[in-house]
Amino acid sequence: MVIKVILGCHVNFNNEQLLGSAKQAVSYGANAFMFYTGAPQNTVRKELSEDLKKQAYAYMKENGIEIKNVICHAPYIINLANNKEPEKWNFSIQFLKQELSRCKFLGISYIVVHPGSAVGLDRSVAITNIIDALKLIIDEDGPMILLETMAGKGSECGCTLEEIKEMIEKVGTKYIGVCLDTCHLNDAGYNMQDFDTFLKEFDQLIGLEYIHCVHLNDSKNICGSHKDRHENLGLGTLGYETLQKIFMNPKLKDVPKILETPYIDKLYPPYKFEIASLKENKYNPNLIQDIIDFYK
Ligand code: FE
Ligand code: FE
Ligand code: ZN
Repeated sequence: MVIKVILGCHVNFNNEQLLGSAKQAVSYGANAFMFYTGAPQNTVRKELSEDLKKQAYAYMKENGIEIKNVICHAPYIINLANNKEPEKWNFSIQFLKQELSRCKFLGISYIVVHPGSAVGLDRSVAITNIIDALKLIIDEDGPMILLETMAGKGSECGCTLEEIKEMIEKVGTKYIGVCLDTCHLNDAGYNMQDFDTFLKEFDQLIGLEYIHCVHLNDSKNICGSHKDRHENLGLGTLGYETLQKIFMNPKLKDVPKILETPYIDKLYPPYKFEIASLKENKYNPNLIQDIIDFYK
């Protein structure tokens, strides 16, 4: 049985911009995708082309990708939490504002942001900095910022639902949401094996209506490890069944699920096979070998 789902993965954003990303997503059998507007680890960005945007929209229409299921991810080097060096903090804010306007140009509704790391600051001060920055960045005509749940690696903020709740409440606009990352939640100490209980807790604290994206990843580490190392589906501590259940959870049926699992041998993208396995609701015990055989 093939199930109708919103499923994709993170893809590149190359010279063909959104068109190239959409082509890559379609080649994996995805009907959703997530991209960075350039390299995730730097802030060098090219001018966006109106023509490529038009072509991307036509291509997506032909291939059943709705723009609401296309997500942008802000580069992870920006840090809204630390203002010890005011120029850097201001740069992060200005850069994110530009990212929002790039999303607006492309018609993207959601941009995922890592809240930031305290690096030497008191945690409560760091969280206040994030809130202040978000207030300056959020534009109610632009894409909605989705705060990603973090693993709590180093001094990362946003690794508990209470911290995410505090940020949302104090930013004080409905124009903010949450991106759940299953690897990060596991590493932060939330039991993904009992996802319904987790969702109940989330609903009581924050509200399910705030969830607009799920990063579906297995984890290399045990629950509460605070590590943040993603693993391919079924090969980590969450396991295939748990991820399949999260993927199929009726409460999240309208939310795009995005794979951010690692390439095999750093060379071969796993997404075509992981997507097929999820869509067919069938664990593939030969996942790695199938991927290598296909790309080699
Ligand atoms: Fe992320
Ligand atoms: Fe993620
Ligand atoms: Zn991660």
